[in-house]
Amino acid sequence: MVIFAPMEKGVIYLDNAASTPMDETVVDSMVQCMRTIYGNPSSLHNHGRKARVLIEHARRSIAGCLGVSSAEIFFTSGGTEAGNAVLWGCCKDLGFKNFITSTTEHPAILGTLDALVRHMGARVHFVKVDSLGNIDFEHLDTLLLQYPRSVVSLMHANNETGKLLPVKHVAGICKRYDAVFLSDTVQTIGKFRLDLRQLGLDFAMASAHKFHGPKGVGFMFIKSGHLLQSFLSGGAQERNMRAGTENVCGIVGMARALDVAMQRLDEDCVYIRGLKDEFVRLLSDRIPQIVFNGDINAGSLHTIVNFSLPQWKDPDMLLPGLDIEGICVSAGSACSSGSHKGSHVLEAMGVDPSVSSLRVSFSRYNTIEEIHRFVEVLSNLTCRTSDI
Ligand code: PLP
Repeated sequence: MVIFAPMEKGVIYLDNAASTPMDETVVDSMVQCMRTIYGNPSSLHNHGRKARVLIEHARRSIAGCLGVSSAEIFFTSGGTEAGNAVLWGCCKDLGFKNFITSTTEHPAILGTLDALVRHMGARVHFVKVDSLGNIDFEHLDTLLLQYPRSVVSLMHANNETGKLLPVKHVAGICKRYDAVFLSDTVQTIGKFRLDLRQLGLDFAMASAHKFHGPKGVGFMFIKSGHLLQSFLSGGAQERNMRAGTENVCGIVGMARALDVAMQRLDEDCVYIRGLKDEFVRLLSDRIPQIVFNGDINAGSLHTIVNFSLPQWKDPDMLLPGLDIEGICVSAGSACSSGSHKGSHVLEAMGVDPSVSSLRVSFSRYNTIEEIHRFVEVLSNLTCRTSDI
């Protein structure tokens, strides 16, 4: 039997880029929905209509937060499905054969592109990335000159290092070559005030569990005029764009989570940036050998820090050592379900693969005391090993 317990006291959860604890008001809205809304949103009777009204209300609210029309928001099971649907749609329905991306993208994008190469004869071109995770815009320009009318897929914030992409700049480059631009915005929606239309994006994607909403629900933004077909077959839901009965309570929770995130955005940004700055300062002080991976300043997301510990000789023992102390962090990315393969992102940035690296990611629920305790535990652990 699975035992559900509230977050244990003493546990320090610093893996918010993998998933976030749910906001209490989100839980309340979902429980209320589960108790009262049981009709199928496609049913024409009263109970079906109630569910439909909630979905459309959520769509309007989400679209309003992102400066787009509700007709441009389509609900999915999360970021992975959104990325698959957009990229497959670009290939199958819009006839794109060339895709430009980087080796530091999330597997949701890289895996899909790999499938398009194998099944659809698509061609993928990788733009160069430097040791800080910066995309080489001159190289992007060169690739687009060679392959105009491509799909460019570059993420807004890297989920392992937090490195940010100037999306508006990239959108401008894409426009010059008649290319379309998908940005994986899974790590940034709910963290910034984004106007997707003003940024010049053609496609974007989101996942509710990254902004204190439920798991297994997300959405894709498809700019009006891009006529993609449904990725799944067998139903006319989401205006023929995503077959299958909608996750009504998940959608309600996601809209609530985004609304809360936007309302508290400014104070949360300042607070979390403060946690990150203090963390970086303390770590540099206590473990002078530490090497930060990527950009830890304004060019990176306030919620993520990635670093290597050159003196730590046994990468497989670091996470369990922290886990015993009740500290949850991630080695590189935790998104590929517990696989302990080295990080493809750090590899692309030229980080020594034999060195232990950690990703620490914060949310509004973390405290300065937790940061102090984590640095204390980590410096004790690393001190002990360097004595061996
Ligand atoms: N893209 C990025 C940048 C992510 O961090 C994740 C998260 O795991 C995904 C895509 C996949 O999202 P989901 O977990 O909703 O499938």
